[in-house]
Amino acid sequence: MVRIKRCIQCVVIAVALCLISSVLEANELPTHKPIAGGVSILELGLYSDAPNVSYQGDRVATIKVSDDWFAVVGIPLSAEVGVDVPIKVKVDDWISFSYLVRVLENDYGEEKLEVASKHVALSQTNLERHQSEKTHIDAVRGTFTQKKIDSFKLRMPVEGRLSSTFGFRRIYNGEPRSPHSGMDIAAPTGTVVLAASSGLIIDVGDYFFSGKMVTIDHGSGFLTLYAHLSEIDVSVGDVVSHESQIGRVGASGRVTGPHLHFGVILNGVSVNPNLFL
Ligand SMILES: [Zn+2]
Repeated sequence: MVRIKRCIQCVVIAVALCLISSVLEANELPTHKPIAGGVSILELGLYSDAPNVSYQGDRVATIKVSDDWFAVVGIPLSAEVGVDVPIKVKVDDWISFSYLVRVLENDYGEEKLEVASKHVALSQTNLERHQSEKTHIDAVRGTFTQKKIDSFKLRMPVEGRLSSTFGFRRIYNGEPRSPHSGMDIAAPTGTVVLAASSGLIIDVGDYFFSGKMVTIDHGSGFLTLYAHLSEIDVSVGDVVSHESQIGRVGASGRVTGPHLHFGVILNGVSVNPNLFL
């Protein structure tokens, strides 16, 4: 009898896990991969309004799928493997709880690149320029608008060859620098770049490292960015669809050749674009 009971419990648990994993694979959600630079999807439950979710003080994106709310948490590339990161959830004045997300081991490699020396050993002028641009870009990356998200799925913004993947530890001219925060797609200069999904243009600029860059806000801290462009075809405040041309591939900023650097941001951190395609 005990054995039968145990079996029934096992089946119930297995069915529940099956149901959760089938929901986690819903078309609207990115791939669940809780590694540094990855995404953790948390099932929050049935609520009439969107729960308020935060990670390290930053608001986290939520989405309603089949009456159920989910949090889609971006884990920073700097997150330590094996550490439990707390995700705080507040539903209203009465209900609040926390989840612990364990950061799993990642499988990123290393990449050696040769670029113009001015982009590695920065002059005082370039250092000051970069620092002021970084302050501005960090503020843009922290954008959180209340717009509801219907789907986290993105389209490839350009046709081309994948020339570098997300997460590579990068060695520029023999010197280690930050890991790669996006996906590189090599294509000839002038190739059309499309928005990966509908949204609002919140930033365009010509930056020391990123070159000509466009940032799109898809709502709830979910942003995409497009760097090293040769031409920008949109302005701040433009509303774009997934078919809108936003610019053309180029080689502006710190590059080894013409390509699109495609980035995805969640709750202010860069995450692997592959999980959304
Ligand atoms: Zn890149």
